[in-house]
Amino acid sequence: RAKAEGRSTFRFFTAQMQQRSAARLKLEAELRRALDKRELQLYYQPQCNMQGQLVGVEALLRWMHPELGVVSPAEFIPLAEESGLIVPIGMWVLQEAIGQMREWRERGIRVPAVAVNLSALQFRQPQLVEQVAQLLHEAALPAGCLELELTESVVLEDPDDALGLMERLHNLGVGLAIDDFGTGYSSLNYLRRFPVDRLKIDRSFVQDLEQGRGIAIVRAIVSLARSLGFVTIAEGVETTAQLEQLRRLHCDQVQGFLFARPMAVIQLEAWLQRHHVVGPDGEGWNFEI
Ligand code: C2E
Ligand code: MG
Ligand code: MG
Ligand code: MG
Repeated sequence: RAKAEGRSTFRFFTAQMQQRSAARLKLEAELRRALDKRELQLYYQPQCNMQGQLVGVEALLRWMHPELGVVSPAEFIPLAEESGLIVPIGMWVLQEAIGQMREWRERGIRVPAVAVNLSALQFRQPQLVEQVAQLLHEAALPAGCLELELTESVVLEDPDDALGLMERLHNLGVGLAIDDFGTGYSSLNYLRRFPVDRLKIDRSFVQDLEQGRGIAIVRAIVSLARSLGFVTIAEGVETTAQLEQLRRLHCDQVQGFLFARPMAVIQLEAWLQRHHVVGPDGEGWNFEI
């Protein structure tokens, strides 16, 4: 009897698994067409320093699915990575973000820099450095307008290879950030050799700031970053209590719902206008935090 039950449980699971993979295949086929159908869109989330000045925006991908509505990148980026679709999608993201920066410049809207997330597969494309250089050249933008975000796992998959690539990107003048810092396995030995500009403190540590241990971890990350010459930016800042704690810990910059959510271009421009001020130091963006 136990055997029969076991078998039916097994059948139940396979049916469920088949259903799931069918749904995945459907989504993958739809994602394949999403680029052509212009269903992909970039949202932008402001990044500020502790004086409340805009230091840049992070480009975050959204899929406007005709039936499902807005699909989160947490759902489709893994799918895009497994299928290799992340390569053309990632190229589109770079093109779009750089094109947007160029447009803002032409219209006198001063967004200092745009940060773009790179996936492992994209990072391993032999043409990446040339493509980035070409896109910046075509847009007549200084390379410092672009920052590329890499996670620890992307970098540490093949650290020596990654080091060479990062140096070539760094030599172009492109900024480099380590995303979700502290969640992966960071080798201090490599960290000191990487030409990194910013460490992004993962949201999970920011959430933990209400507790003593959380404070200790963020303090350690900031101290490590400072001694290696990296700027620190905290991700996922949602409360003023977190902000005050980060200020006390000398974290340099912040990004999170407390200031602004990721927004479509129109909303971002309205947000910028609301916070645009002419102060004693001249024109700039500034708001009370
Ligand atoms: P990420 O690069 O670590 O991006 C930060 C994520 O945190 C974003 O999620 C953002 O919307 C969210 N976030 C920002 N502030 C807050 C906050 O205060 N509270 C909370 N709870 N969340 C906050 P999103 O947009 O869903 O993106 C998820 C991940 O998908 C990104 O994590 C990134 O790894 C990936 N991703 C997004 N766009 C791209 C892309 O163009 N290319 C690649 N390769 N990956 C991307
Ligand atoms: Mg990121
Ligand atoms: Mg992150
Ligand atoms: Mg993340």
